[in-house]
Amino acid sequence: MWRVATVRAVRGCGAGGPRAASGAAAAQLRKRLESELEDIRGAGTWKTERVIASRQGPHLHLAGGGSGIINFCANNYLGLSSHPEVIRAGVETLENFGAGLSSVRFICGTQSIHKDLEVKIARFHQREDAILYASCFDANAGIFEALLTPEDAVLSDELNHASIIDGIRLCKANKYRYKHMDMQDLEAKLQEAQKHRLRLVATDGVFSMDGDIAPLQEICQLAQKYDALVFIDECHATGFLGPNGRGTDELLGVMDKVTIINSTLGKALGGAAGGYTTGPKPLIDLLRQRSRPYLFSNSLPPAVVGCASKALDLLMESNAIAQSMAAKTQRFRSKMTAAGFTISGKDHPICPVMLGDARLASVMAEDMLNRGIYVIGFSYPVVPKGKARIRVQISAVHSDEDIDRCVEAFTEVGRKHRALP
Ligand code: PLP
Repeated sequence: MWRVATVRAVRGCGAGGPRAASGAAAAQLRKRLESELEDIRGAGTWKTERVIASRQGPHLHLAGGGSGIINFCANNYLGLSSHPEVIRAGVETLENFGAGLSSVRFICGTQSIHKDLEVKIARFHQREDAILYASCFDANAGIFEALLTPEDAVLSDELNHASIIDGIRLCKANKYRYKHMDMQDLEAKLQEAQKHRLRLVATDGVFSMDGDIAPLQEICQLAQKYDALVFIDECHATGFLGPNGRGTDELLGVMDKVTIINSTLGKALGGAAGGYTTGPKPLIDLLRQRSRPYLFSNSLPPAVVGCASKALDLLMESNAIAQSMAAKTQRFRSKMTAAGFTISGKDHPICPVMLGDARLASVMAEDMLNRGIYVIGFSYPVVPKGKARIRVQISAVHSDEDIDRCVEAFTEVGRKHRALP
């Protein structure tokens, strides 16, 4: 019965095609939206999406024909998105625990695998407890409002990720924005913020547009001096920065000075989706009671939990994958610098090739794809005016040959477009 009715309903919809809502308000909205879209196109900031017809990995097939493309623009830093053991764990968890929970966590959406993964994340970061979210965007959207009141203050780096900015907007604390990685400015803002009950300094551990690493030692020293807490977003660090891949706090020797970490399962840790907060147990307990994206959104799907859990097992067994990525990053950075390019950041697999001009970044990226290298140009408003770049991201699963082909293509394309002498 159900099946017949569904088939009829779907057919009915298919035969009619999409329906446009009628009425003056709908027509007015359509006109306004079309004009806004035209403005975006006119400003040259339209984002097109290339369609991938294969798994995520170092070599891709693009829908519509492109094959054997070498991919340098995923956050798949450790190559775990298509790792056979990660995929197998996802399939097994899907079979054993189902497609999804049809529930938020506190009603009937918590399975043993969710609790186990939270314990594993806390152990990985050497923290007391952890809480899972559908994404790190949600983790960032939830934490500030749940933790800070109008009596408190949050001090945020001006280039923090959009999700931190949005999370801070949602909270009622007093807001201070300090200049990017400027410790003098942070100190001045901390002095101003002394009048508040609690101060929280919030920073990306690694800033994704420049691949630059936050000066966490200095931030922690200032936090200590002015009695503040430190929060870091580790999306571009978890799994590979530091001797054991624990992140920026491990790399800079301040694991015991950073109070709260938010990070993602959607980049190095299997690449599917999901995010988390890890830190003091009472904070995690409070988030379970108060954090709105946790309370009012569905549980993380079992397959995603299975993949991330296996990714963490692999990283806790050995740091070989992270080390292989570091060696490849070094190879790319040194060869590109020798070829005459300026690469922003230092020692990080995010390698922005600085070009300055927005058009140059866009035509060079297109020409790189014509040579089988998939990279993306970034220009204003994503990065400041005059600082357009092509962002290259290195993965542990790139071969030395992949890296060398990328450098050769950059050199040819750079000469062609006079970005190199
Ligand atoms: N924070 C940073 C620094 C990010 O780069 C991203 C993703 O681009 C996020 C948060 C959001 O992560 P997720 O994809 O898990 O929502």
